[in-house]
Amino acid sequence: MSILVINAGSSSIKYSIYVSATLELIDHGLIEEIANHHEGFELMRQQLQLHHIDIEHIDAIGHRVVHGGERFHEPTLINDDVLEEITALIPLAPLHNPANIEGIIAARAIAPKVPNFAIFDTAFHQSMPRHAYHYPLPHNLYTIHHVRRYGFHGTSHHYVAQKASEALEKPLNALNLITFHIGNGASACAIQNGKSIDTSMGMTPLEGLMMGSRCGSIDPSIIGYLSHATPMSIDEIETMLNKKSGLLAIGGSNDMRTLLNAKEKGDKNAILAIDMFVHSLKKQLGAYMAILTKVDAVVFTGGIGEHSPDIRQMVCEGLEHLGIKFDNGKNSGQNREIQDSSSMVKLLVIPTDEERQIAMYVQKLL
Ligand code: ADP
Repeated sequence: MSILVINAGSSSIKYSIYVSATLELIDHGLIEEIANHHEGFELMRQQLQLHHIDIEHIDAIGHRVVHGGERFHEPTLINDDVLEEITALIPLAPLHNPANIEGIIAARAIAPKVPNFAIFDTAFHQSMPRHAYHYPLPHNLYTIHHVRRYGFHGTSHHYVAQKASEALEKPLNALNLITFHIGNGASACAIQNGKSIDTSMGMTPLEGLMMGSRCGSIDPSIIGYLSHATPMSIDEIETMLNKKSGLLAIGGSNDMRTLLNAKEKGDKNAILAIDMFVHSLKKQLGAYMAILTKVDAVVFTGGIGEHSPDIRQMVCEGLEHLGIKFDNGKNSGQNREIQDSSSMVKLLVIPTDEERQIAMYVQKLL
């Protein structure tokens, strides 16, 4: 029997299918340029049949849902009420939740007897204390408009935290970690006794670290200033902050590999972009060192975190005063621990696997 994991985008469906008992990966695929999600699920059904899997007879389907607001703290069995509540959260995630919902509706139509579970990117961060998730804004913006920090990449932060617990042979609820998920999107999480107590992304995934094409944290007055000083509308400014900023704006590419190659050739903009990116990560690391009572390990994951020794080196060097002693000799290849043996804080490289984490949640609920 098997568990199907679905990540439904606006014009694509990403899927992975696992053996329920062992979570061995049977198949994964991407169905692109779909006219609608019903068509996408029909195409996926045919793909699964090649592996002799009948979608109507699988154990369960786990759906990635980006925004769970304050309502959803954990993976949740989807019924009509839950679907209605996820739909009510669309204003908080207008770019993501609608496609996630379409995926759930299509799954229920094609396999009406199979249970569906929603796994939220925000859920892991629902343990943040009030002083971490509140913005210093009038109370009614929170009580009426739900303006607060939610945080994202929660499935990934949780997955690598569990893997760190295995690697360090210490229970997760006894571990304090700083996890960096750095890919195109990037976020950091401060984890105390296995629970998220702060994260760099905010009400939306725009806040926090500098990213591929997102600006991360900037002075909020820049938005008002630009709306007066330029012909740009608020929507255009928001698009610029999300799609035309970050590494792309400064270095000319949102791809870290391209920037590192350009840096080698002395490209000044690439050098500035990388320096800014590293500065943003170091600042976040320092902030989380300060709010955690102790730090067992710093974890790097995501495309850049897993694959770029150069960025890890730039972030980790010069932090001896924080008890972090980096060993560049261990920084490439398959080494998971890249700290010197005298370092008080471990430095770990752990590949993330959000699909597997979703399957793990579903397996536990079954
Ligand atoms: P997404 O957030 O879209 O899932 P990924 O986690 O795959 O993205 O991360 C994409 C980023 O990882 C890109 O900036 C890419 O250049 C970077 N990356 C991937 N491999 C390497 C590498 N070997 N060295 C440096 N950066 C890398």
